[in-house]
Amino acid sequence: MPPRPGPRVFRIAGHRMTNVSACPCGLPRALVDCCGRWHAGEPAPDAEALMRSRYSAYTLGLTDYVLATWHPHTRPAGLALDPPGTRTWLGLAVRAHRRIDDHRSEVEFVARSRIGGAPAQRLHERSRFVREGGRWFYLDGDLLG
Ligand SMILES: [Zn+2]
Repeated sequence: MPPRPGPRVFRIAGHRMTNVSACPCGLPRALVDCCGRWHAGEPAPDAEALMRSRYSAYTLGLTDYVLATWHPHTRPAGLALDPPGTRTWLGLAVRAHRRIDDHRSEVEFVARSRIGGAPAQRLHERSRFVREGGRWFYLDGDLLG
């Protein structure tokens, strides 16, 4: 009888993950069945999924993905994410997802992180997303609170 296959192990930006690793975005799913699908190139089905996958990309250091999902009109020329191991991501809470129409959505979220032993930082933002060519893009956002 063939051995039972164990979890498949792979690396994302230097992070050791398996196909059963929990998704950093906080949904109770494995990364490969959640944000990992959009990281791999499938279009995120809605703005909230894209927003979650961008948060996951920040936690995994996927700079290219963060930039690729940023609308060209507002995308920065470059992005220096914190060096691996500097920032600890503590979690994401999606507060609201408002669909304006088929091509515009707003997602309000709180993302918490900490650098070293410093107190946790809280990013509370209402982000705007637009859909072009079948893909959602982050446009910009307002900081709240
Ligand atoms: Zn996810």
